Amino acid sequence: MSDEPSIFTRILHGELPGEIIAETEHVFALRDIAPKAPVHLLIIPKTPDYRDVTELAAADPALMADMIALAGRLAHEHADGEFRLVFNTGASAGQTVFHVHAHVLAGELSEKSLGG
Ligand code: 5GP
Repeated sequence: MSDEPSIFTRILHGELPGEIIAETEHVFALRDIAPKAPVHLLIIPKTPDYRDVTELAAADPALMADMIALAGRLAHEHADGEFRLVFNTGASAGQTVFHVHAHVLAGELSEKSLGG
């Protein structure tokens, strides 16, 4: 984990602009700034402790379940309830922010939205 706060932590704390569209005790959601699908949301744990989904799943499966519950709720609110969930894991897989987050892609999806 880097010592620098992630972009997501800085948005959560109001240090960078960004609209938090939903929040629970442990998780929050943003619209992706560069959407790759008609609905493209990011589901993010408030804790910066986990770099990626493998660390999260090993250490705190309940927190991962909270993320997926919020993904499902927002897919119903913003689309028809059906969605693709993407966790890019590692730089060569397209991960650019090393504060674990799930991409929720919904709407009419093309293959282009596979990568989140
Ligand atoms: P990754 O590439 O790590 O899987 O996903 C990071 C995502 O964060 C990218 O899809 C990128 O568009 C999004 N992103 C980067 N900076 C910002 C920002 O400042 N605000 C929001 N809402 N999304 C961002």
